[in-house]
Amino acid sequence: MATQQNDPIQIAGAGPAGLSAAITLARAGRQVIVHEAQANVGWRFKHDFQGLENWTTQRDVLQVLADDGITTDFDILPGKKGMAYDAWGQGYPIQSATPFFYLVVRGPGPGSLDDALLRQAQALGVEVRFKSRVKKLPFPAILATGPKAADAIAVGYHFDTDMEDGFWVICDNNLAPGGYAYLLVWNGKGTVKTCMFSDFKQEKKYVENTVAAFERLAGLEMKNPVHHGGVGNFYVPQRAYAGKRPVVGEQAGFQDTLWGFGMRHAITSGILAARSFVEEADYDAMWRAEFNGQLRVSIVNRALYNMLGNRGYRWFLKRISTKQNIRKSLYGQYHPGFIKTLLYPWANHSVKRLRSDSDCEHIDCECVWCRSCDCHLV
Ligand SMILES: Cc1cc2nc3c(=O)[nH]c(=O)nc-3n(C[C@H](O)[C@H](O)[C@H](O)COP(=O)(O)OP(=O)(O)OC[C@H]3O[C@@H](n4cnc5c(N)ncnc54)[C@H](O)[C@@H]3O)c2cc1C
Repeated sequence: MATQQNDPIQIAGAGPAGLSAAITLARAGRQVIVHEAQANVGWRFKHDFQGLENWTTQRDVLQVLADDGITTDFDILPGKKGMAYDAWGQGYPIQSATPFFYLVVRGPGPGSLDDALLRQAQALGVEVRFKSRVKKLPFPAILATGPKAADAIAVGYHFDTDMEDGFWVICDNNLAPGGYAYLLVWNGKGTVKTCMFSDFKQEKKYVENTVAAFERLAGLEMKNPVHHGGVGNFYVPQRAYAGKRPVVGEQAGFQDTLWGFGMRHAITSGILAARSFVEEADYDAMWRAEFNGQLRVSIVNRALYNMLGNRGYRWFLKRISTKQNIRKSLYGQYHPGFIKTLLYPWANHSVKRLRSDSDCEHIDCECVWCRSCDCHLV
């Protein structure tokens, strides 16, 4: 894997994974070229709000990023309390002593995570070539081109609103089969989505149900709604190399299989892939040591969640609403213990990571997967 110090390292994809890799390489004095297929960063998110999870490490995620040399110069809204609902409309307050996630903005433009990473990379001398869709990259290179399959989709609206900042979640298979519906409001803007793990073809029905439920339960008021959706890919690869080139972020399938939180794994895997060049180390060994356990636990969590159904979700929500510090309890849920280690072979077998949707024949289809799938490397 050794590369000459002067060889420029090329990266396909300017998402959090690719840019974190670029920043880490540039900080180590390496010459880096990033190819981004779109005209700007964060194209597929278009001012989406996303949660940077803060429960898989005891140290605060912002501290972890800073220690890794990654900028934290982006807008955040700390998430310490919110409201969850079951399928019968019963509300369960969720609270945490310290933020269990930070809301961030995705997409181009001031204040977004993507823009902050881009600015840091460029300030370090990284050359970012926009509208540069790569089909092949010679070694040395890193592949960071985002999801290549849809194991879950999140669809709904971005909108303006007079609502106060906050977040709301509903666990109800009539709104989000196998997943959850969510509403996030921040500074007069909002996003409402159903995050679905099956039945993608019926997304319109689930979006309508989701909007109606949040209008009823949380007083959702949308102005200028704009449709938005995207896909998520969850996968624990045997190896995260394509030939000799490390594969990072969602392109490798790195993402929390339970809820679909992928930003931290994207950033961490980008950093590790970069270090594997600098330290001439085995990237597979590095990511496995860092988060293979968490990926496996998230598969067990998903397998268990799949068994719950609406009554089970109600039990789960009741349980978490009694916790004074949800961050601490999620930390426990995401770390391998004896039982979850034992359950992993069963869970890995039972959780279908689709890389396609059996409900969709992909012919003359406008579902989110078919709308988004032509923008990635095959
Ligand atoms: C609606 C939605 C909500 C989400 N919410 C959350 C959340 O709350 N919290 C969370 O942690 N995660 C969330 N995620 C997941 C998270 O967004 C992803 O896991 C994360 O963005 C993955 O980063 P990445 O760098 O691997 O890929 P991406 O962010 O997808 O970046 C890949 C980049 O590669 C570019 N590219 C693709 N093909 C090529 C090519 N051939 N040549 C050059 N460039 C190419 C793309 O244009 C893109 O810019 C959400 C995802 C969706 C869809």
